[in-house]
Amino acid sequence: MNPLFSLTPSERGPMINTWEQDIGGPLEICLEITGLDPAVQLNDQVSKAQPVASDPAGKRPDVHSSISGTVIDIKKDHITIREEGTRVAPPVDFPATDPRTMLENLRRNGIDTRNMKQGCTLIVNAVPHEAGMDGHRILIEEFNDIMTVGLNYLKKAISPKACSLAIPKGMDWTIQGCTGHEIKPVYPNSLPELITKAITGEELPSAVCVIDAATLYRIGRTIQGRQPVTLVIVKIGNTPFLTPVGTPVGVLLKVAGFRPGEHDRVILGGPLTGRAIYNLKQGVTPETQGIVVLRSPSGPTLKDNPCVGCGECVIRCPARLMPNMISRHAEFGLYENCLSYNIASCFECGLCAYWCKAQRPILQYIRLAKKELAAQPIIEDLREQ
Ligand code: SF4
Ligand code: SF4
Repeated sequence: MNPLFSLTPSERGPMINTWEQDIGGPLEICLEITGLDPAVQLNDQVSKAQPVASDPAGKRPDVHSSISGTVIDIKKDHITIREEGTRVAPPVDFPATDPRTMLENLRRNGIDTRNMKQGCTLIVNAVPHEAGMDGHRILIEEFNDIMTVGLNYLKKAISPKACSLAIPKGMDWTIQGCTGHEIKPVYPNSLPELITKAITGEELPSAVCVIDAATLYRIGRTIQGRQPVTLVIVKIGNTPFLTPVGTPVGVLLKVAGFRPGEHDRVILGGPLTGRAIYNLKQGVTPETQGIVVLRSPSGPTLKDNPCVGCGECVIRCPARLMPNMISRHAEFGLYENCLSYNIASCFECGLCAYWCKAQRPILQYIRLAKKELAAQPIIEDLREQ
């Protein structure tokens, strides 16, 4: 099997704490705040776990500082904080009051609750998102009690009609209160849409909430620690790094011994679904599970080549779409035409681009079209993605 598609978790190696490494000066974290309002000002001194940005619409989770420090830069898309001092925000309480308040408390403490609906089927996804992105293995194997705390809180907050745990076939992982379901560990079986189909037998049922196992851990840790979680596990090569949210990618690559060359691509996430970054100062987010460096010219060289009409992307698309047609319309700005080809059903697995004979950036075209369509007032389902 192509190793890029194997989702079997690798053997566990030691985890490295980045704050124990010499990075040549104080850490400067870069927190992504696109679409959020800053809650701090330049030169403010902030505490670890203090909220620094929030959603004016009250839907997306608040962003918190992962270190004690001073705000040294605020831009539209990010806040930079330089480490200094040992201040920590006061603890917060999570009373089991009414369900709406319980979810709101999670949101205010950094948990994305947008797809958590009352009475849904809750699926905890412990299958690695892409090959090698299995840093959460340590959480499931060693912090099962914290996962249970998170699950019990969610049970009170959303009263799920069933709780399932999706695990890679061959692993003996369990979480008390969840029914286990083995998933064949082959990409793209890990994606929420395909996990949902494998467990419920239905395509796109409305009353299902899939959360990553690392998110369940973060919920449990937030409740138990009475503070937002400020650390994230990021896998680079075979090594998991435990690091503050917002740690610049360049710092992590340096600690890991990777030095990207001029035309290499650095990707947040996996090679099939991740986002290429343009600046090594960009920080990791709470959702970042891995960083990949695609060496030039060994990686795919995507270009705006014309589609040769081979049909390979159509054959490979697990959502039974026509990526060739969607990408053609998106390429020329005809975004609304993409709706006739059911662009909203694309779950961004990246297989069309991987197999494209012409090496077209199909996934990038699709993401561009979705973003443009979401800015229009009528396309609600795209806006939620
Ligand atoms: S990314 Fe491509 S292959 Fe994957 S679901 Fe979307 S259109 Fe289909
Ligand atoms: S695989 Fe590429 S070249 Fe072939 S039909 Fe799809 S978009 Fe066109």
